[in-house]
Amino acid sequence: MSTEADMVDLVIANGILVTPDGMAPGAVAIDGGRILAIGTDDAMPQARRVIDAGGHHVIPGAIDVHVHFREPGFSHKETWASATAAAAIGGVTTVLDMPNTNPPTATAQAVTQKIALASSQALIDFGVYGYLGEDNIADLAPMARAGASAFKLYLGSDNPLVPCPNDGAVLDAMAEIAKLGLRLTVHAENTGILRWREARLRAAGRDDLEAHLEQHADIATVEAVSRIALFSEWTGCKVHIAHESCRHSLPLIADAKRRGVDLTAETCPHYLLLSTDDAERVGGNALRVKPPVRGAGHAGPLFDALSSGLIDMISTDHAPYLPDEKRQASIWRTAPGFPGVETSMRLMLTQVAQGRIGLPDYVRMACEAPARAFGLYPRKGSLLPGTDADIVLIDMAATSTIKAAELHSIGNVTPFEGMATTGAAVMTLVRGHVVMDAGRIVGEPGWGRPLAGRG
Ligand SMILES: [Zn+2]
Repeated sequence: MSTEADMVDLVIANGILVTPDGMAPGAVAIDGGRILAIGTDDAMPQARRVIDAGGHHVIPGAIDVHVHFREPGFSHKETWASATAAAAIGGVTTVLDMPNTNPPTATAQAVTQKIALASSQALIDFGVYGYLGEDNIADLAPMARAGASAFKLYLGSDNPLVPCPNDGAVLDAMAEIAKLGLRLTVHAENTGILRWREARLRAAGRDDLEAHLEQHADIATVEAVSRIALFSEWTGCKVHIAHESCRHSLPLIADAKRRGVDLTAETCPHYLLLSTDDAERVGGNALRVKPPVRGAGHAGPLFDALSSGLIDMISTDHAPYLPDEKRQASIWRTAPGFPGVETSMRLMLTQVAQGRIGLPDYVRMACEAPARAFGLYPRKGSLLPGTDADIVLIDMAATSTIKAAELHSIGNVTPFEGMATTGAAVMTLVRGHVVMDAGRIVGEPGWGRPLAGRG
Protein backbone atom coordinates (compact mmCIF):
# COMPACT_ATOMS: atom_id res chain seq x y z
CA MET A 1 0.00 0.00 0.00
CA SER A 2 1.37 3.37 -0.86
CA THR A 3 0.72 6.56 0.97
CA GLU A 4 0.68 10.02 -0.58
CA ALA A 5 4.27 10.46 0.59
CA ASP A 6 5.40 7.37 -1.34
CA MET A 7 3.84 8.56 -4.56
CA VAL A 8 5.86 10.04 -7.38
CA ASP A 9 4.74 13.11 -9.29
CA LEU A 10 3.95 11.53 -12.62
CA VAL A 11 3.94 8.32 -14.62
CA ILE A 12 3.69 8.30 -18.41
CA ALA A 13 2.24 4.86 -19.11
CA ASN A 14 1.36 2.81 -22.16
CA GLY A 15 3.99 4.27 -24.45
CA ILE A 16 6.67 3.00 -26.79
CA LEU A 17 10.02 4.24 -25.49
CA VAL A 18 12.48 5.19 -28.21
CA THR A 19 16.23 5.51 -27.77
CA PRO A 20 19.01 5.42 -30.39
CA ASP A 21 19.32 1.71 -29.62
CA GLY A 22 15.73 0.77 -30.34
CA MET A 23 12.09 0.84 -29.31
CA ALA A 24 10.16 -1.03 -26.63
CA PRO A 25 6.77 -0.72 -24.94
CA GLY A 26 7.18 0.96 -21.59
CA ALA A 27 6.56 3.70 -19.09
CA VAL A 28 8.46 6.56 -17.44
CA ALA A 29 8.20 7.57 -13.78
CA ILE A 30 9.01 11.20 -13.02
CA ASP A 31 9.61 12.90 -9.70
CA GLY A 32 10.98 16.31 -8.87
CA GLY A 33 11.42 17.11 -12.56
CA ARG A 34 13.71 14.13 -13.15
CA ILE A 35 13.24 10.68 -14.58
CA LEU A 36 13.06 8.28 -11.64
CA ALA A 37 12.64 5.03 -13.54
CA ILE A 38 11.82 3.54 -16.90
CA GLY A 39 10.32 0.10 -17.33
CA THR A 40 7.14 -1.78 -17.97
CA ASP A 41 3.80 -0.31 -16.94
CA ASP A 42 3.37 -2.75 -14.05
CA ALA A 43 6.81 -1.91 -12.63
CA MET A 44 5.93 1.76 -12.17
CA PRO A 45 5.42 3.30 -8.72
CA GLN A 46 2.14 4.91 -7.72
CA ALA A 47 1.86 8.44 -9.04
CA ARG A 48 -0.16 11.54 -8.29
CA ARG A 49 -0.83 11.88 -12.02
CA VAL A 50 -0.80 9.28 -14.77
CA ILE A 51 -0.62 10.26 -18.42
CA ASP A 52 -1.80 7.53 -20.76
CA ALA A 53 0.47 7.78 -23.78
CA GLY A 54 -2.14 5.82 -25.71
CA GLY A 55 0.48 3.73 -27.47
CA HIS A 56 2.28 6.79 -28.81
CA HIS A 57 6.06 6.95 -29.01
CA VAL A 58 7.94 8.53 -26.11
CA ILE A 59 11.25 10.22 -26.95
CA PRO A 60 13.64 12.63 -25.23
CA GLY A 61 12.86 16.26 -26.10
CA ALA A 62 14.68 17.47 -29.19
CA ILE A 63 17.70 19.75 -28.77
CA ASP A 64 18.24 22.46 -31.38
CA VAL A 65 21.77 23.82 -31.07
CA HIS A 66 21.30 26.53 -33.70
CA VAL A 67 18.50 29.08 -33.24
CA HIS A 68 18.18 32.85 -33.57
CA PHE A 69 15.52 33.91 -31.09
CA ARG A 70 16.23 37.58 -31.91
CA GLU A 71 16.05 39.22 -28.49
CA PRO A 72 17.50 41.54 -27.39
CA GLY A 73 17.19 43.95 -30.29
CA PHE A 74 14.86 42.43 -32.88
CA SER A 75 11.60 41.77 -31.03
CA HIS A 76 9.59 42.61 -34.15
CA LYS A 77 10.85 39.36 -35.74
CA GLU A 78 10.62 37.07 -32.70
CA THR A 79 10.57 37.09 -28.91
CA TRP A 80 11.70 34.47 -26.43
CA ALA A 81 8.00 33.92 -25.64
CA SER A 82 6.95 33.38 -29.27
CA ALA A 83 10.03 31.35 -30.18
CA THR A 84 9.88 28.99 -27.21
CA ALA A 85 6.14 28.47 -27.80
CA ALA A 86 7.02 27.46 -31.37
CA ALA A 87 9.73 25.16 -29.99
CA ALA A 88 7.40 23.51 -27.46
CA ILE A 89 4.81 22.88 -30.19
CA GLY A 90 7.60 21.39 -32.28
CA GLY A 91 8.82 18.99 -29.59
CA VAL A 92 12.00 20.96 -28.84
CA THR A 93 12.88 21.21 -25.14
CA THR A 94 16.36 22.78 -25.25
CA VAL A 95 17.87 25.35 -27.61
CA LEU A 96 21.20 27.13 -27.95
CA ASP A 97 20.70 30.75 -29.05
CA MET A 98 23.07 32.54 -31.41
CA PRO A 99 24.81 35.80 -30.43
CA ASN A 100 23.92 38.06 -33.38
CA THR A 101 21.41 40.02 -31.33
CA ASN A 102 21.64 43.72 -30.52
CA PRO A 103 23.69 44.17 -28.48
CA PRO A 104 25.59 41.11 -29.66
CA THR A 105 26.33 38.52 -26.99
CA ALA A 106 30.00 39.45 -26.88
CA THR A 107 30.68 40.22 -23.21
CA ALA A 108 29.93 38.60 -19.85
CA GLN A 109 27.42 41.36 -19.20
CA ALA A 110 25.62 40.64 -22.48
CA VAL A 111 25.50 36.92 -21.60
CA THR A 112 24.01 37.73 -18.20
CA GLN A 113 21.49 40.14 -19.71
CA LYS A 114 20.35 37.67 -22.38
CA ILE A 115 19.97 34.89 -19.79
CA ALA A 116 17.84 37.20 -17.62
CA LEU A 117 15.71 38.30 -20.57
CA ALA A 118 15.19 34.74 -21.77
CA SER A 119 14.52 33.42 -18.24
CA SER A 120 11.54 35.73 -17.88
CA GLN A 121 9.82 34.43 -21.04
CA ALA A 122 11.06 30.97 -21.98
CA LEU A 123 8.84 27.89 -21.86
CA ILE A 124 11.75 25.53 -22.52
CA ASP A 125 15.37 25.32 -21.40
CA PHE A 126 18.05 27.24 -23.23
CA GLY A 127 21.72 28.05 -23.51
CA VAL A 128 23.33 31.08 -25.09
CA TYR A 129 26.30 31.39 -27.39
CA GLY A 130 29.07 33.93 -26.87
CA TYR A 131 30.41 35.68 -29.97
CA LEU A 132 34.06 35.30 -30.95
CA GLY A 133 35.50 38.49 -32.46
CA GLU A 134 38.82 40.26 -32.89
CA ASP A 135 38.14 42.65 -30.04
CA ASN A 136 36.80 40.35 -27.33
CA ILE A 137 39.24 37.47 -26.90
CA ALA A 138 39.75 38.63 -23.30
CA ASP A 139 35.98 38.32 -22.81
CA LEU A 140 35.82 34.62 -23.72
CA ALA A 141 36.62 33.28 -20.24
CA PRO A 142 34.30 35.80 -18.49
CA MET A 143 31.52 34.86 -20.91
CA ALA A 144 32.00 31.18 -20.05
CA ARG A 145 31.85 32.03 -16.34
CA ALA A 146 28.66 34.05 -16.92
CA GLY A 147 27.00 30.97 -18.41
CA ALA A 148 27.76 30.87 -22.14
CA SER A 149 27.20 27.28 -23.29
CA ALA A 150 29.39 27.53 -26.39
CA PHE A 151 30.94 30.10 -28.73
CA LYS A 152 30.12 31.15 -32.29
CA LEU A 153 32.55 32.10 -35.02
CA TYR A 154 31.22 33.84 -38.11
CA LEU A 155 33.52 33.07 -40.96
CA GLY A 156 31.69 34.49 -43.93
CA SER A 157 29.83 37.30 -42.18
CA ASP A 158 28.62 40.57 -43.66
CA ASN A 159 26.78 41.54 -40.46
CA PRO A 160 28.51 44.53 -38.78
CA LEU A 161 27.19 43.36 -35.38
CA VAL A 162 29.18 40.12 -35.64
CA PRO A 163 32.00 40.62 -38.14
CA CYS A 164 34.36 37.89 -39.29
CA PRO A 165 37.65 38.03 -37.33
CA ASN A 166 41.02 37.60 -39.05
CA ASP A 167 42.67 34.18 -38.92
CA GLY A 168 45.28 35.31 -36.40
CA ALA A 169 42.59 36.31 -33.95
CA VAL A 170 40.70 33.09 -34.67
CA LEU A 171 43.76 30.99 -33.81
CA ASP A 172 44.39 32.88 -30.56
CA ALA A 173 40.72 32.63 -29.61
CA MET A 174 40.60 28.91 -30.38
CA ALA A 175 43.61 28.29 -28.17
CA GLU A 176 41.77 30.12 -25.39
CA ILE A 177 38.49 28.24 -25.98
CA ALA A 178 40.39 24.93 -25.92
CA LYS A 179 41.38 25.78 -22.33
CA LEU A 180 37.76 26.61 -21.44
CA GLY A 181 36.61 23.24 -22.80
CA LEU A 182 33.57 24.61 -24.62
CA ARG A 183 32.73 23.93 -28.26
CA LEU A 184 33.08 26.51 -31.02
CA THR A 185 30.30 26.51 -33.62
CA VAL A 186 31.44 27.86 -36.96
CA HIS A 187 29.60 29.43 -39.86
CA ALA A 188 32.09 28.05 -42.34
CA GLU A 189 32.34 30.22 -45.44
CA ASN A 190 35.26 32.25 -46.78
CA THR A 191 34.55 35.96 -46.30
CA GLY A 192 36.97 37.07 -49.03
CA ILE A 193 35.30 34.92 -51.65
CA LEU A 194 31.82 36.10 -50.61
CA ARG A 195 32.79 39.79 -50.68
CA TRP A 196 34.63 39.58 -53.98
CA ARG A 197 31.85 37.73 -55.72
CA GLU A 198 29.09 39.94 -54.37
CA ALA A 199 30.87 43.03 -55.69
CA ARG A 200 31.47 41.39 -59.07
CA LEU A 201 27.87 40.18 -59.38
CA ARG A 202 26.42 43.53 -58.34
CA ALA A 203 28.70 45.36 -60.78
CA ALA A 204 27.38 43.08 -63.51
CA GLY A 205 23.85 44.08 -62.60
CA ARG A 206 22.97 40.66 -61.21
CA ASP A 207 20.12 40.72 -58.70
CA ASP A 208 18.52 37.27 -58.62
CA LEU A 209 18.49 34.11 -56.54
CA GLU A 210 21.00 32.49 -58.86
CA ALA A 211 23.45 35.34 -58.10
CA HIS A 212 23.15 34.51 -54.38
CA LEU A 213 24.10 30.93 -55.22
CA GLU A 214 27.06 32.06 -57.34
CA GLN A 215 28.25 34.29 -54.51
CA HIS A 216 28.14 31.42 -52.02
CA ALA A 217 29.99 29.01 -54.32
CA ASP A 218 30.67 25.50 -53.03
CA ILE A 219 34.39 26.27 -52.70
CA ALA A 220 33.64 29.13 -50.27
CA THR A 221 32.33 26.67 -47.71
CA VAL A 222 34.62 23.76 -48.59
CA GLU A 223 37.67 25.96 -47.97
CA ALA A 224 36.35 27.20 -44.62
CA VAL A 225 35.46 23.69 -43.40
CA SER A 226 38.96 22.57 -44.32
CA ARG A 227 40.59 25.57 -42.58
CA ILE A 228 38.57 25.25 -39.39
CA ALA A 229 39.29 21.51 -39.15
CA LEU A 230 43.00 22.33 -39.45
CA PHE A 231 42.76 25.09 -36.83
CA SER A 232 40.90 22.70 -34.53
CA GLU A 233 43.60 20.07 -34.97
CA TRP A 234 46.28 22.65 -34.31
CA THR A 235 44.73 24.26 -31.21
CA GLY A 236 42.71 21.42 -29.65
CA CYS A 237 39.57 23.57 -29.76
CA LYS A 238 36.43 21.45 -30.22
CA VAL A 239 34.52 22.69 -33.25
CA HIS A 240 31.04 22.25 -34.68
CA ILE A 241 30.26 22.91 -38.34
CA ALA A 242 26.99 24.86 -38.52
CA HIS A 243 24.34 24.28 -41.20
CA GLU A 244 26.28 22.03 -43.57
CA SER A 245 24.80 22.66 -47.02
CA CYS A 246 27.29 21.21 -49.47
CA ARG A 247 28.08 17.62 -50.46
CA HIS A 248 31.67 18.57 -51.25
CA SER A 249 32.34 19.26 -47.56
CA LEU A 250 31.50 15.69 -46.59
CA PRO A 251 34.86 14.08 -47.48
CA LEU A 252 36.62 16.82 -45.48
CA ILE A 253 34.43 16.19 -42.45
CA ALA A 254 35.06 12.46 -42.77
CA ASP A 255 38.80 13.01 -43.08
CA ALA A 256 38.94 15.32 -40.06
CA LYS A 257 37.06 12.78 -37.93
CA ARG A 258 39.36 10.02 -39.14
CA ARG A 259 42.36 12.07 -38.01
CA GLY A 260 40.80 12.40 -34.56
CA VAL A 261 39.80 16.06 -34.80
CA ASP A 262 37.03 16.77 -32.25
CA LEU A 263 34.69 18.03 -34.94
CA THR A 264 30.92 17.64 -35.10
CA ALA A 265 28.53 18.84 -37.77
CA GLU A 266 24.87 19.67 -38.23
CA THR A 267 22.59 20.14 -41.17
CA CYS A 268 19.06 21.53 -41.41
CA PRO A 269 15.78 20.35 -42.96
CA HIS A 270 15.99 22.94 -45.75
CA TYR A 271 19.29 21.46 -46.99
CA LEU A 272 17.92 17.92 -46.75
CA LEU A 273 14.52 18.44 -48.33
CA LEU A 274 14.84 21.42 -50.72
CA SER A 275 16.93 22.49 -53.69
CA THR A 276 16.90 25.45 -56.05
CA ASP A 277 14.28 23.47 -58.00
CA ASP A 278 11.88 24.55 -55.22
CA ALA A 279 12.53 28.27 -55.70
CA GLU A 280 9.48 28.98 -57.80
CA ARG A 281 7.17 27.17 -55.39
CA VAL A 282 8.47 29.08 -52.36
CA GLY A 283 8.33 32.47 -54.08
CA GLY A 284 11.80 32.86 -55.61
CA ASN A 285 13.94 35.10 -53.44
CA ALA A 286 12.21 33.85 -50.27
CA LEU A 287 14.42 30.74 -50.55
CA ARG A 288 17.41 32.94 -49.67
CA VAL A 289 19.40 31.63 -46.70
CA LYS A 290 23.11 31.62 -45.83
CA PRO A 291 24.63 29.28 -46.76
CA PRO A 292 22.27 28.76 -49.68
CA VAL A 293 19.95 25.91 -50.48
CA ARG A 294 21.95 24.53 -53.41
CA GLY A 295 21.08 22.82 -56.66
CA ALA A 296 19.70 19.31 -56.89
CA GLY A 297 22.41 16.77 -56.04
CA HIS A 298 23.36 18.02 -52.57
CA ALA A 299 20.32 17.00 -50.52
CA GLY A 300 20.70 13.26 -51.13
CA PRO A 301 24.33 12.98 -50.02
CA LEU A 302 23.63 15.26 -47.02
CA PHE A 303 20.72 13.03 -46.02
CA ASP A 304 22.91 9.93 -46.34
CA ALA A 305 25.63 11.60 -44.24
CA LEU A 306 23.11 12.44 -41.52
CA SER A 307 21.73 8.90 -41.60
CA SER A 308 25.19 7.39 -41.24
CA GLY A 309 26.23 9.77 -38.45
CA LEU A 310 28.95 11.48 -40.48
CA ILE A 311 26.83 14.59 -39.98
CA ASP A 312 26.10 14.22 -36.29
CA MET A 313 22.86 16.08 -35.83
CA ILE A 314 19.88 17.95 -37.16
CA SER A 315 19.46 21.62 -36.21
CA THR A 316 17.30 24.31 -37.80
CA ASP A 317 19.15 27.65 -37.99
CA HIS A 318 15.76 29.04 -36.91
CA ALA A 319 15.92 32.62 -38.22
CA PRO A 320 12.52 34.28 -38.52
CA TYR A 321 11.88 37.36 -40.64
CA LEU A 322 8.75 39.34 -41.40
CA PRO A 323 7.02 38.85 -44.78
CA ASP A 324 8.19 42.32 -45.90
CA GLU A 325 11.80 41.34 -45.19
CA LYS A 326 11.47 38.07 -47.11
CA ARG A 327 9.45 39.27 -50.12
CA GLN A 328 11.82 41.69 -51.81
CA ALA A 329 12.38 42.07 -55.54
CA SER A 330 16.14 42.40 -54.97
CA ILE A 331 17.99 39.31 -53.80
CA TRP A 332 20.54 41.51 -52.01
CA ARG A 333 17.74 43.08 -49.95
CA THR A 334 15.94 39.79 -49.24
CA ALA A 335 16.47 38.66 -45.65
CA PRO A 336 18.30 35.30 -45.44
CA GLY A 337 16.63 32.60 -43.37
CA PHE A 338 13.35 31.29 -42.03
CA PRO A 339 11.88 29.78 -38.86
CA GLY A 340 12.51 26.10 -38.13
CA VAL A 341 11.99 24.97 -34.54
CA GLU A 342 8.28 24.35 -34.98
CA THR A 343 8.49 22.35 -38.22
CA SER A 344 11.74 20.36 -37.98
CA MET A 345 10.38 17.38 -36.04
CA ARG A 346 7.31 17.09 -38.27
CA LEU A 347 9.49 17.20 -41.38
CA MET A 348 11.92 14.61 -40.04
CA LEU A 349 9.17 12.31 -38.74
CA THR A 350 7.76 12.45 -42.25
CA GLN A 351 11.09 11.01 -43.42
CA VAL A 352 10.65 8.29 -40.78
CA ALA A 353 7.13 7.60 -42.04
CA GLN A 354 8.52 7.33 -45.57
CA GLY A 355 11.08 4.79 -44.38
CA ARG A 356 14.17 6.90 -45.10
CA ILE A 357 15.34 6.71 -41.46
CA GLY A 358 14.18 4.87 -38.36
CA LEU A 359 12.74 6.56 -35.30
CA PRO A 360 15.80 5.51 -33.23
CA ASP A 361 17.98 7.26 -35.85
CA TYR A 362 15.92 10.41 -35.41
CA VAL A 363 16.38 10.28 -31.63
CA ARG A 364 20.13 9.91 -32.13
CA MET A 365 20.42 12.92 -34.48
CA ALA A 366 17.89 15.22 -32.77
CA CYS A 367 18.36 14.39 -29.08
CA GLU A 368 21.42 12.36 -28.11
CA ALA A 369 24.05 13.69 -30.52
CA PRO A 370 23.48 17.40 -29.80
CA ALA A 371 23.51 16.69 -26.05
CA ARG A 372 26.78 14.79 -26.33
CA ALA A 373 28.49 17.41 -28.51
CA PHE A 374 27.62 20.30 -26.20
CA GLY A 375 28.33 18.63 -22.85
CA LEU A 376 24.68 18.15 -21.90
CA TYR A 377 24.51 14.35 -22.02
CA PRO A 378 22.91 12.49 -20.27
CA ARG A 379 21.14 15.31 -18.40
CA LYS A 380 19.50 16.25 -21.71
CA GLY A 381 18.81 14.09 -24.74
CA SER A 382 18.30 10.77 -22.95
CA LEU A 383 15.61 8.77 -21.16
CA LEU A 384 17.93 7.63 -18.39
CA PRO A 385 17.01 7.63 -14.67
CA GLY A 386 18.36 10.69 -12.87
CA THR A 387 18.19 12.97 -15.89
CA ASP A 388 15.91 15.92 -16.65
CA ALA A 389 12.43 14.71 -17.61
CA ASP A 390 12.40 16.48 -20.97
CA ILE A 391 10.05 14.19 -22.83
CA VAL A 392 7.99 14.35 -26.01
CA LEU A 393 5.09 12.12 -27.01
CA ILE A 394 4.76 11.72 -30.74
CA ASP A 395 1.90 10.47 -32.85
CA MET A 396 3.31 8.85 -35.97
CA ALA A 397 -0.16 8.77 -37.54
CA ALA A 398 -0.78 12.53 -37.25
CA THR A 399 -1.04 14.02 -40.72
CA SER A 400 -1.24 17.71 -41.52
CA THR A 401 0.03 20.45 -43.78
CA ILE A 402 2.54 23.15 -42.86
CA LYS A 403 0.98 26.61 -42.97
CA ALA A 404 2.87 29.77 -42.06
CA ALA A 405 -0.27 31.33 -40.61
CA GLU A 406 -0.45 28.53 -38.02
CA LEU A 407 3.16 28.86 -36.83
CA HIS A 408 3.88 30.58 -33.53
CA SER A 409 6.90 32.58 -34.66
CA ILE A 410 6.33 36.27 -35.41
CA GLY A 411 8.35 36.06 -38.61
CA ASN A 412 6.60 33.04 -40.08
CA VAL A 413 7.49 32.87 -43.80
CA THR A 414 8.48 29.24 -44.39
CA PRO A 415 9.78 27.48 -47.50
CA PHE A 416 7.83 24.42 -46.33
CA GLU A 417 4.48 26.16 -46.86
CA GLY A 418 1.92 23.66 -48.08
CA MET A 419 4.09 20.61 -47.41
CA ALA A 420 2.21 17.57 -46.11
CA THR A 421 3.66 15.96 -42.98
CA THR A 422 3.16 12.64 -41.19
CA GLY A 423 4.08 12.38 -37.51
CA ALA A 424 4.07 15.16 -34.92
CA ALA A 425 4.71 15.95 -31.28
CA VAL A 426 1.46 15.77 -29.32
CA MET A 427 2.81 16.50 -25.83
CA THR A 428 5.99 18.21 -24.63
CA LEU A 429 7.30 18.05 -21.07
CA VAL A 430 10.18 20.15 -19.75
CA ARG A 431 11.62 18.88 -16.46
CA GLY A 432 8.46 16.89 -15.81
CA HIS A 433 6.11 19.79 -16.49
CA VAL A 434 3.70 19.64 -19.43
CA VAL A 435 4.26 22.77 -21.53
CA MET A 436 2.43 21.64 -24.71
CA ASP A 437 -0.60 19.37 -24.92
CA ALA A 438 -2.33 18.45 -28.18
CA GLY A 439 -0.91 21.45 -30.02
CA ARG A 440 -1.78 23.96 -27.30
CA ILE A 441 0.65 25.78 -25.05
CA VAL A 442 -0.17 24.97 -21.42
CA GLY A 443 3.12 25.90 -19.74
CA GLU A 444 3.94 29.26 -18.24
CA PRO A 445 6.48 31.70 -19.68
CA GLY A 446 9.46 31.67 -17.35
CA TRP A 447 9.37 27.91 -16.76
CA GLY A 448 12.39 27.55 -19.02
CA ARG A 449 15.77 27.65 -17.31
CA PRO A 450 19.27 28.49 -18.53
CA LEU A 451 21.63 25.53 -18.88
CA ALA A 452 24.24 27.51 -16.98
CA GLY A 453 24.55 30.93 -15.39
CA ARG A 454 22.04 32.91 -13.40
CA GLY A 455 18.40 31.92 -13.36
ZN1 LIG B 1 22.40 30.82 -37.96
